[in-house]
Amino acid sequence: MIFDILTLFPAMFEGAFSDSIIKRAVEKGLVSIGIHNIRDYSDDLRHQTVDDYPYGGDAGMLMKPEPLAGAITAAKERLAGSDPVVVYMTPAGRLLDQDIVKELAEKKSLILLCGRYKGIDQRIVDNYVDMELSIGDYVLSGGEIPAMAVVDAVTRLIPGVLGNMDSAETDSFHSGLLSHPHYTRPEIFEGIRVPEVLISGHHANIKEWQKEKSIEITRERRPDLLKKR
Ligand code: SAM
Repeated sequence: MIFDILTLFPAMFEGAFSDSIIKRAVEKGLVSIGIHNIRDYSDDLRHQTVDDYPYGGDAGMLMKPEPLAGAITAAKERLAGSDPVVVYMTPAGRLLDQDIVKELAEKKSLILLCGRYKGIDQRIVDNYVDMELSIGDYVLSGGEIPAMAVVDAVTRLIPGVLGNMDSAETDSFHSGLLSHPHYTRPEIFEGIRVPEVLISGHHANIKEWQKEKSIEITRERRPDLLKKR
């Protein structure tokens, strides 16, 4: 999987991808992540302007279409042959969930477009964007954190990225339910004992307990997921 990220703030990604699972996935050659500055595609060579006032007199600035078109076109050329999907991160997009993450993990390459200011010129959405995605019903200052969320969630599903120890199959949402509670040593912590069944060594009973707990927690916290299931 190749992620090509288009942003005005490339430095934001330095720490985010330099540790743990994503770092190992890159080292193993299972994913590759390119970060590109949209400012490099500004036609204003002197000031590298990327924003302008919105028509209609709204407050704030908007990302101009020309640098965005240039950055997306260059990304498509870089990824030619891998049929890249252009994803614009926006609060107005489809709400990201595990089903969409699974869908994206099937693709060969993703171009993740991070907006700033009041967003981007609509003509870029109309002519260049394949999918608009939101990470929640709140407004962030930019699409960088949403893009990081997409890279992280998708990378976890690439075959070979997770070992048995942190398998995605026991994560929340994998089977449409929230995850059951988890315990590690010591057996008693602050007076609370690990549920007896988990130390019984009885595999079938443990599985049954985990499933019951998953359903119980999902019913209590996210009944919408149960309905969907
Ligand atoms: N005016 C826009 C609106 O009301 O929908 C919000 C613009 S926001 C300040 C700037 C950029 O942050 C957006 O273009 C988008 O790329 C990103 N962004 C903010 N919140 C987001 C969210 N919940 N999901 C995905 N991207 C988001």
